[in-house]
Amino acid sequence: MKTLGILGGMSWESTLSYYKLLNKGVRDKIGGLHSCRMVMHSVDFAPFAEQMGKNDWESITAGLVKGAKSVEAGGAEALIIATNTMHKAADEVQAAVNIPLLHMADAIAAGAKKTGASKLGLLGTAFTMEQDFLSRPLKEKYGLDVIVPDCDGRSMVHRTIFDELCCGKLTDKTRDAYIEIIEEMTALGAESIVLGCTEIGLLVKPEDVSVPLIDTVEAHVELALDYVLK
Ligand code: GLU
Repeated sequence: MKTLGILGGMSWESTLSYYKLLNKGVRDKIGGLHSCRMVMHSVDFAPFAEQMGKNDWESITAGLVKGAKSVEAGGAEALIIATNTMHKAADEVQAAVNIPLLHMADAIAAGAKKTGASKLGLLGTAFTMEQDFLSRPLKEKYGLDVIVPDCDGRSMVHRTIFDELCCGKLTDKTRDAYIEIIEEMTALGAESIVLGCTEIGLLVKPEDVSVPLIDTVEAHVELALDYVLK
């Protein structure tokens, strides 16, 4: 088994899910007392959130690069950035280390292949929904089309990610609002919905909606397990 490097803490609510699923995945695949070899760099999320608010991606990238170098120095043989949004800096992070970055877009594409979808509805932060660091590789590398909610929908999703989900606050009201948006995107032709923020899967479950969901934590963990166990 190879050692996986993780940039986590963005937020820790979802890094917990990664930690659990990675260990459970290794146990399911190998059995016994086996668990996932990992080196984690878990950040204090508050300064990163503040820098995002100021659009200071230079500082964010510097922080991520520092973390990536530290997990590489700690023995990691591959790296995951355990958040969708921070893939905005994926190219710079990859360029700074000599281990492969297992990219979220590849994980999403593998999830889409399983559901057979070619048109995806994407939920995430405003950065993820409005910029193309995930939708471009999905289109260019895999031919997948991506649609996003309307302006009001995007701002509700973005706001609740930071004010609620990343703070561990899960409410029926917000879940219902997400379900409504998912239904709207389904009516517009989305064949699968990408929970493109690593905390959304804590709120919305497959049984809440009629369309298949691609939970980016699960998909990313699967990609990482394939790599470290191959
Ligand atoms: N965890 C979230 C994501 O997957 C949002 C937090 C962040 O900005 O990193 O995008």
